[in-house]
Amino acid sequence: MTHQPRVVIIGAGFAGIEAAKKLGKHRVNVLLIDRHNYHTFIPMLYQVATAILYPHQVVYPLRRLFRGLPTVNFLQADVEKIDFHNQTISAENVAIDYNYLVIATGSQTQYLGVTGAPENTFPMRTLTDAIAIRNQVLSRFEQAVKVTNEAERIRLLTFVIVGGGATGVELAGSLSELINSALGKDYPSLNRDRARVILVQSGERLFPSYPEKLGKYAEKWLRRQGVKVHLNSKVSKVTSEAVYLEDDTAIFTDTVIWTAGVLAAIPQTKQPVKTATKEKILVEQTLQLCGYENVYGVGDVSYVESEEEFNGVAQEAIQQGKTAADNIRRQISGKIPLPFDYLNKGRLAIIGKHAGVGIIGKFAIKGFIAWFLWLEVHLLYLPGIRNRLGVLFNWLKYYFFGESASRIIISTDGVRSNK
Ligand SMILES: Cc1cc2nc3c(=O)[nH]c(=O)nc-3n(C[C@H](O)[C@H](O)[C@H](O)COP(=O)(O)OP(=O)(O)OC[C@H]3O[C@@H](n4cnc5c(N)ncnc54)[C@H](O)[C@@H]3O)c2cc1C
Repeated sequence: MTHQPRVVIIGAGFAGIEAAKKLGKHRVNVLLIDRHNYHTFIPMLYQVATAILYPHQVVYPLRRLFRGLPTVNFLQADVEKIDFHNQTISAENVAIDYNYLVIATGSQTQYLGVTGAPENTFPMRTLTDAIAIRNQVLSRFEQAVKVTNEAERIRLLTFVIVGGGATGVELAGSLSELINSALGKDYPSLNRDRARVILVQSGERLFPSYPEKLGKYAEKWLRRQGVKVHLNSKVSKVTSEAVYLEDDTAIFTDTVIWTAGVLAAIPQTKQPVKTATKEKILVEQTLQLCGYENVYGVGDVSYVESEEEFNGVAQEAIQQGKTAADNIRRQISGKIPLPFDYLNKGRLAIIGKHAGVGIIGKFAIKGFIAWFLWLEVHLLYLPGIRNRLGVLFNWLKYYFFGESASRIIISTDGVRSNK
């Protein structure tokens, strides 16, 4: 019997599941490892945080996803260390050998050295994060009903979002809609004008990775919705009581959501690896790690030197996952790996109801068409027919009748991981 090489994939995000699917379809022996037993559809997390969707609608169980691919095995574990020379990884003190390795561990929140930010802000990357934000917002409203001191009520109903990129803008738009519609109805005794959403952006405009006019459009839309947008404002300190800006402005609040920075989320490596911006691992155009031809880095964790500008979006991760799988198959059959060839299908971001922005080819789009395309594309890529139908139903209810899904406070005590 011939020896079947084993491909270990760390990370079951967009890049990892795509690589596993492609290899599995060709009956390659795969071990897929993730610290969660589900795949998270990250672009829709903000809709969980703002109660448009139920948490289970944006995740999909990994064992179910790979049920039809018998050569793909799944292990729920946290990978701590990689030893490239011995071709092993250690996951929760178990050593696992590989012939080929795909590192697809994505990114993590970066607090940019701001004092108090890691302890006093809410990150927004995982399902647990999104549920925690939803709990926080809803419980501040419940608290605000009980307090008699007006200044304290205003503090409880002040929600600060740090970072004016896509995630910050999406959250600000959706949170203000939640407050203006559903929460307004749920808390008739509270003066809705007391609730404030404040978006703090260090640069001079929102959506810095999109053309300027789209940033201006988003700013105008958010201001009309009642969001206070602070541009050219850097956060210097966060405490449990307030956010401090570099010009000494203090915003008193109980809720700060941090969307401002990202950093690659690579496990420890026994041998040093070359890194690029945001500590991403530097990979060749074939996506192989410099110096290790049986190791690939794909998705948000890696940096490909190329003329193409990459923005850390799901499409890039998906296509890189596929390329890594193709190249491993080529290596197994004695061929040389090919360079990654990215097909840029465009980018979209949503601001709120009937408002979005996007770049398709050379065209910048905004408004209803961008919003509608965002919904359509994301529904198409969301894994699981039941999830798609559920999401569609919730969207119809929300966008036509202003009724959001789940305004309940779920205890997350004992729920593992803030990673
Ligand atoms: C809030 C938010 C909104 C976004 N919205 C959009 C959008 O609308 N459109 C878009 O195209 N892109 C969007 N992005 C970017 C997009 O989500 C990423 O580009 C994409 O998820 C990258 O895929 P990936 O496979 O590299 O990493 P991820 O999808 O992050 O997956 C990484 C996986 O690795 C696992 N993992 C990490 N470390 C370990 C370890 N040590 N051991 C075991 N498992 C580990 C994690 O649990 C995770 O499942 C958004 C990102 C964020 C944070």
